[in-house]
Amino acid sequence: MKSYDVVIIGSGCGGGSVALQLAGSKARTLILERGHSLPREAQNWDPESVFGERRYHTDETWWADSEAFKPGMFYYVGGNTKFYGAAMFRFRERDFGEVIHEEGVSPAWPITYADLESWYGRAETLFGVRGLGGADPTDPPRSKDYVLKPVPHEPVMSAIEQRLRENGLKPFPMPCAVDFGSGGRCQRCENCDAFPCKIDAKGDAEIKLIRPAVAHSNIELVTGAQVVKLMADSSGRRIVAVEVMVNGQLEKISADVFVLSAGAINSAALLLRSANTKNSRGLANSSDVVGRNYMTHNTSAIMAVHPFKINDTHFPKTLAVHDYYFGEGAGSTPLGSLQPLGNIREPMLREALALMPRFVRSTLAARSVDWYAQSEDLPHPDSRVTIRPDSAINLHWHRTNLKAHFRWVAKCKEILRATGYPFVFAKLFETKVVSHQCGTVRFGNDPITSALDPLCKAWDHDNLYVVDSGFFPSSAAVNPALTVVAQGLRVGEHLRVTLFS
Ligand SMILES: Cc1cc2nc3c(=O)[nH]c(=O)nc-3n(C[C@H](O)[C@H](O)[C@H](O)COP(=O)(O)OP(=O)(O)OC[C@H]3O[C@@H](n4cnc5c(N)ncnc54)[C@H](O)[C@@H]3O)c2cc1C
Ligand code: SF4
Repeated sequence: MKSYDVVIIGSGCGGGSVALQLAGSKARTLILERGHSLPREAQNWDPESVFGERRYHTDETWWADSEAFKPGMFYYVGGNTKFYGAAMFRFRERDFGEVIHEEGVSPAWPITYADLESWYGRAETLFGVRGLGGADPTDPPRSKDYVLKPVPHEPVMSAIEQRLRENGLKPFPMPCAVDFGSGGRCQRCENCDAFPCKIDAKGDAEIKLIRPAVAHSNIELVTGAQVVKLMADSSGRRIVAVEVMVNGQLEKISADVFVLSAGAINSAALLLRSANTKNSRGLANSSDVVGRNYMTHNTSAIMAVHPFKINDTHFPKTLAVHDYYFGEGAGSTPLGSLQPLGNIREPMLREALALMPRFVRSTLAARSVDWYAQSEDLPHPDSRVTIRPDSAINLHWHRTNLKAHFRWVAKCKEILRATGYPFVFAKLFETKVVSHQCGTVRFGNDPITSALDPLCKAWDHDNLYVVDSGFFPSSAAVNPALTVVAQGLRVGEHLRVTLFS
């Protein structure tokens, strides 16, 4: 049996951050990634291939109770960041505390914003995030500004920004991890959000974490390696090995430390599937929270259409609106964030507008400025990942806080009409959109109500850490990746300093 100091499961931004912290240390580290490196090919930027043919999506079937569905998941080196929209937000300072919402409470984190602040800075620098500190009215305090200036607006977004300001709002440059600007590679192609970058100009986990990590001799990456089970010793407290399927062969690999980062849903599934006599509810699960409290934000796509204006913007993700993030004034409850979605193309509309003739969809897509309204989804114990008898994943998303989301969408429509777009349509994202999945292996201060301690170590096991977005106790209303990276770097440093220096 092969043996390592550390085995990391998953090469997304959680696993990659830990790997980068261990790079160059004494820790002989193996990253096991079920996918392969995503090929750079013409289809990367072809909406027909990416959306029409689902060329890069996993073909797995998951279940939402009685209904089978194909999840919006991508298994590649770099994980879902290969397809992400590169919006890299810090959580607001208040997001780390308890926040009262219209339909419930967003619980406090076991760490404060101050605990992550320097790690957020490191993460922004590593990913080449472009932004402008303090321009966001809800920006948390930061010890240093972004190193790189924001991506400039193209004319359509510039005009919208001006109208938003005239209407009393404070739009700000959206923090974004694209390599644009002098000497930068980004060509502002029309395809960023939900597409891979054909020229490696998007700051994703493969480029910013995994490649620099594996340049060190102590970090090894094996692709096409799907971990099927974690195995504990006879006491049940120590993880001793993983069972992994490589090229159709089942292998066992042992290690001193295991870092699980397979994504919030898959990590919960793996822990549940790894139940044994000492851990009958699954690993790390004496609290019975593993798989529960699944969140993924309440999100809607919004198309703001002007019938006589073609939207020729190539890269629209240059501004965001947070004026109503915490509500509409004293005593009100939070609404959410508004940011550009990227460019909606005809193949993306086919499923939602199946009855509409193709040329109408194309006409609409060409004239719309596309937005993403995002509000907080609250944790609920019945919002849950479980394993079906055939071993497939069941995802029961108990939706919460929708009243606030619909109020936010209505407000966004008002805001966008006032920028000069008379027709504004919104569509709520459904269960199969799992992009911002989190919460299924929550960390906390109490082993009775959480699976992980504040450094993401399983309370029940001496040598198991979980660092993907499963650790989030709440989802806030900003995009999750930067927070995953910040905590991954923090945990990675903890491992390096305490165990391998
Ligand atoms: C279309 C899209 C757009 C998005 N846009 C944004 C955005 O603009 N900003 C933002 O902050 N976030 C965005 N997100 C979310 C962001 O990508 C995720 O929050 C982030 O990637 C989560 O990282 P992770 O490490 O937790 O998990 P993942 O990225 O899911 O990584 C998990 C890795 O583990 C691998 N794996 C899974 N199971 C196994 C197994 N059994 N054995 C071995 N390997 C396994 C997977 O292949 C994957 O590589 C977006 C997501 C999507 C899908
Ligand atoms: S907009 Fe820039 S970073 Fe994004 S996919 Fe296109 S070239 Fe790559």
